[in-house]
Amino acid sequence: TIQDLVGLLTELNARSYSAYRDIQGIWNLKDSSLSAEYIQNDPFAPPSKFCLRVPHANARYPSSMYDNPIRTTALCDFLARSLYTTISRLSPRFPTSSSSTSWSAAKGGVISADKPGQQVLQRSSVILDGHGIEARFTISLPAQSRTILGYEAASLFKEQVPRLEKSLMFSSHDPSELAEFIDCLVAFVINGAILPRASGISDLPLNPSEKLAVPFQSPPSLLNSFYLPHRGKIEGMGISKGVTMIAGGGFHGKSTLLDALAKGCYSHIPGDGREFVVTSQNIVSVQSEDGRPIRNVDISPFIDQLPGHVTTNSFKTEDASGSTSMAAGVIEALELGADTLLFDEDTCATNFLIRDTRMRKLIKTDPINPLVSNVRAMLRDHGCSSILVIGGCGDYCDVADLVLEMRDYGCYDITEEARRIAEEVPSVVTQYEAPTFPQTRSRHIHLPSLPTDRGKLTARKNGTVDILHDISNPSSLQETLDLRALGQLVSDSQTRAIASALKALPGIIRSRDVLHILHKQVNDSSESDEVGERQSDPEESSSDSTSSRVKQWTTLKKALRLLDRELGERGLDQIMEDGKLDPFLARPRAIEVGMA
Ligand code: ADP
Ligand code: MG
Repeated sequence: TIQDLVGLLTELNARSYSAYRDIQGIWNLKDSSLSAEYIQNDPFAPPSKFCLRVPHANARYPSSMYDNPIRTTALCDFLARSLYTTISRLSPRFPTSSSSTSWSAAKGGVISADKPGQQVLQRSSVILDGHGIEARFTISLPAQSRTILGYEAASLFKEQVPRLEKSLMFSSHDPSELAEFIDCLVAFVINGAILPRASGISDLPLNPSEKLAVPFQSPPSLLNSFYLPHRGKIEGMGISKGVTMIAGGGFHGKSTLLDALAKGCYSHIPGDGREFVVTSQNIVSVQSEDGRPIRNVDISPFIDQLPGHVTTNSFKTEDASGSTSMAAGVIEALELGADTLLFDEDTCATNFLIRDTRMRKLIKTDPINPLVSNVRAMLRDHGCSSILVIGGCGDYCDVADLVLEMRDYGCYDITEEARRIAEEVPSVVTQYEAPTFPQTRSRHIHLPSLPTDRGKLTARKNGTVDILHDISNPSSLQETLDLRALGQLVSDSQTRAIASALKALPGIIRSRDVLHILHKQVNDSSESDEVGERQSDPEESSSDSTSSRVKQWTTLKKALRLLDRELGERGLDQIMEDGKLDPFLARPRAIEVGMA
């Protein structure tokens, strides 16, 4: 029991730090068990990892709160927040800043858990399965230089850990708060939404003491209402499939609306202001990222030839320009199955968006077919909608199905006016429209080239991942994967999960693919798309046996589908190497893994 653990810790007082390893194992608390999964072997090592497991019978949540995957995610996210706030209210036992801790000072005693942001995500800090609820966190075990501070450790487990246990129980929460959290997850820009954020670097709602937010109100022509099972009737703006242009003066709220749509692929916590701002799961916000590398992307619909007769149907560069980076961004999004693309003039390369009459006359050698000439063909041939924020150029009036204006933070439907003006003041846009938009190719990945068993991927706090391809060989390839331009990545914990997922991918594909082959042998029925993809494997003709072929090559789309299924069915723990636990993971969308 936990009393035994407390006794053991006092006995360990003043012993050498490595003796902490004796606490490895499982200890029973009142309603749960505490499992010491990994014990650090010195005070400077990464902190020790613990799990608290509460059986359903003790946690006592009504099963209706976790009877489907989306509700389970919501309940676990709620508990991850509860765990995090409980921990942040505990008083630190020693000064924690590294500057004040000399080598001989008492240190450790800090409990940490993943810090959730404004989005509701599947996380590794709290999971739920058939047995119960499991919370994961780390503790830096207290020490003075390299000796165990046993009494400190004992009081930590005696006083603080039971508070964590309590934070997981149904009885500790206000049932109406909990119900509101879980029930807000079926959603769409609801009237009354608060879209503006506290600042450019904060995802929190605008602070009313700084500035009063104008709640969103749908233009009458776009008003839609829905009945939701747990909420009743909701009303708000519905944007249909098509090309939508958001116009308006500077500082009138255009980017704010677009950013809220970009985050609409996630559910938001109550009070965020963006609850019921819902967009497709496959919405991708594309921005210019000059300097990025591009690997074999067919950007020819946008850019057909580069200086020196460089062709662009398998374009490769280590240093893209603004426009080439955007062309690649769009094509990659289509490859990954995007059904809606978002563009904001603030973050786009202008020459990718438009080219006006005078510039067409002045410069004859520009290889760019701007987006304005391609949006309609993308919609027609790929079913991919676009929503664009454009304040400075009216050319999109010719190609937009819907034109919105943001004025004083209010939203207006000005489509009719835009049509009239487009007739009065003709442009050349329609003359240059692309008749078709070619199919995208399916991207293949070579599994042995991924940094798997031999490599190491380290996610950094700034949204980059360091990749070392072979840890045993210090001179092996080192790369940095820069994910900072992925505006829809909302948490460092998602970046960590992407790093782990890339490492785990070959294993997941192999195990899922073998299952698939066995399944096919038993049923002798074929899932046609999987077969189709395998036939297009480049190894098909040269390779010997089907199984080795399957193991070497796969399409990116299929890999992502298998990964996403694994995460959905078996959770984030599946992307960690055997037995290892990382309590600081949040589920990324398959699209962001694909971009990575
Ligand atoms: P634009 O893209 O049209 O230039 P932004 O969307 O960047 O404008 O918004 C300009 C400023 O107005 C930002 O500081 C933003 O937080 C604020 N803002 C946006 N929408 C609202 C709103 N509904 N209520 C109050 N302030 C808002
Ligand atoms: Mg803007």
